Amino acid sequence: DKVQPHIPATLIPGDGIGPEVVEATVKVLGALGAPFAWDIQQAGMAGVAQSGDPLPPETLASIRKHGLALKGPLTTPVGGGFRSSNVRLREEFQLYANVRPALTILPGRFEDIDIVLVRENLGGFYVAHEYYIPIGDDPRAVAVSTGTNTREGSKRIARFAFDYAVRNGRKNITVVHKANILKALTGIFLEAAREVAAEYEGRVTMNDMIVDACAMQLVLNPQKFDMLLCTNLFGDILSDQIAGLVGGLGMAPGANIGSECAIFEAVHGSAPDIAGKGVANPVSLMLAACMMLDHVDLPDLAQRLRDAISATLNIDQVRTGDLKGSATTEQFTDAIVRRIIASR
Ligand code: NAD
Repeated sequence: DKVQPHIPATLIPGDGIGPEVVEATVKVLGALGAPFAWDIQQAGMAGVAQSGDPLPPETLASIRKHGLALKGPLTTPVGGGFRSSNVRLREEFQLYANVRPALTILPGRFEDIDIVLVRENLGGFYVAHEYYIPIGDDPRAVAVSTGTNTREGSKRIARFAFDYAVRNGRKNITVVHKANILKALTGIFLEAAREVAAEYEGRVTMNDMIVDACAMQLVLNPQKFDMLLCTNLFGDILSDQIAGLVGGLGMAPGANIGSECAIFEAVHGSAPDIAGKGVANPVSLMLAACMMLDHVDLPDLAQRLRDAISATLNIDQVRTGDLKGSATTEQFTDAIVRRIIASR
């Protein structure tokens, strides 16, 4: 009873462990009968190797055409070199919302974590408009970075978060800021969130927390959080932190959402330390694929994949090295496929 592929989507293998976790994810989606017709395109170092461009025009055209993409991680050179292709993709398609859920699937150091972080994806310090000021004979004596948050952009992401809460039965949003120090940059974000929260009164509650206090509370008392609404840089940092609460970067998916396009990815990067060894944990990207299935209104398929992942980790106890198991990416993936077939 396989469904015929009829939802075209761009597939970007990416760099480092990207091709390994993308292959694993495509395999489980195939076993599930997910109706995606993949248009494979390159980006990142793989784009440079293929055509000298970390974000080739064909890749952009494909994403624009389909409005839907599943993406492996892309390597960004530290310091010099080209600008992050991830940031460029977010700007190009105005992917203003980054949704990063952290859900306990395999209980570890913490149990019963269920947090959805919504990160503003286009503004703040993360945009990295940076320059140096020369003094004397030192051309780089002073480094400057500017951040920008607009009222309109802050309201747009707040509205996205509150709508998400209503749609997904979430009750409270904690707005994370540093408005005691960055009074303008993060103050406007908090102000906008308060204005939007008033429209949702009686449906979703809102509180706010300074980012440093929030970081501590997330370790001391993570179960009390429902949703987090963060500026770009704080969301970048805290999403790795909440990934740590549920087993690490191998367990953390993300979705970049705009009004016309959505790109699904793992929170983690290209993991050069383990690339090519066949040991990467593909769960993050598989959970991103679940978010993609939800996005195209196939929640039953998404749930079947989540159940198969959970059964493989908890009942079959097949796990990759990051979760203290010994399975290779391929062995783990095959175990999930067996669970999917058994659930038919
Ligand atoms: P990273 O997330 O690639 O790796 C951090 C650590 O986590 C490493 O020890 C790695 O082995 C481990 N890890 C990550 N994913 C794993 C998985 N699926 N299974 C098992 N272990 C995993 O972070 P990094 O080393 O700081 O960055 C490497 C490169 O990735 C950089 O070029 C960075 O810019 C890029 N990056 C890309 C994205 C993206 O494409 N969205 C996100 C973050 C970083």
